[in-house]
Amino acid sequence: MSFVRSFSVVAVAAAAAASVVIAQPAAKAAGKISVRWLGHAAFEVTSSGGTRILIDPWLAQNPSTPDSLKPVARWSGANKPAAILVSHAHFDHAGDAKALAQASGAPVVGAFEWVNTLGLPEAQAMGGNVGGTMTFGDVTVHIVPAMHSSDPGGRPLGFVLTFADGRSLYHTGDTWVFGDMSLIQERYHPSILLIGVGGGPYTEDAATAAFGVKKFFTPATIIPMHYGTFPALNSEAQVRAAFKGDARLAVLKPGETRSF
Ligand SMILES: [Zn+2]
Repeated sequence: MSFVRSFSVVAVAAAAAASVVIAQPAAKAAGKISVRWLGHAAFEVTSSGGTRILIDPWLAQNPSTPDSLKPVARWSGANKPAAILVSHAHFDHAGDAKALAQASGAPVVGAFEWVNTLGLPEAQAMGGNVGGTMTFGDVTVHIVPAMHSSDPGGRPLGFVLTFADGRSLYHTGDTWVFGDMSLIQERYHPSILLIGVGGGPYTEDAATAAFGVKKFFTPATIIPMHYGTFPALNSEAQVRAAFKGDARLAVLKPGETRSF
């Protein structure tokens, strides 16, 4: 019990620290991190400095993505992301990455072996591997492991984004809860978790995700993803039930943006 209680104390402290950062005058207007859920595992994350990172962009055929956000052309020109991160090669994560890169000129970050199959210009093919780091504007992307598979090519990944104010965001990719999450917490202390909760045959369910958060992490915000897209996946009601009223749970609607 003392183990559980100590985590709760840390969580309260982390939440308090996050609110202090937001309350600082210099950071009040420009210090927010914006997170827009595009449906399933797809997100647009915008730093306080305006760096926009697109993660797992399966959009055109994604039944959860709002129609206005589906077209490839929507993500070009003024809306071009600084980088497109892809956790693994399955269609529901990598779906539109190549088309978006070709239309926008944005680089694709993912497993080295998979990125090299895309046929992109060298400057846009930013393959990496676990432990790798890349910087885009005021955002640094750290590549971390995930426990899943990837076909065709590469391996499953997660991403930790670190920001200028010291906060960080962790997109788990598709995974089961795994012991190295304790190292991700120790190394990066993510304050925003984008965590897979879908369950079904392929990934951890919402109850397991909630178990993992309690065991390993002290975030200020927990944003569930990879649920509700297909009948086999957990529903929003199941996700809410699994987190048992946790005030840190931020359930977004597809297309919705929240700032932290
Ligand atoms: Zn998936």
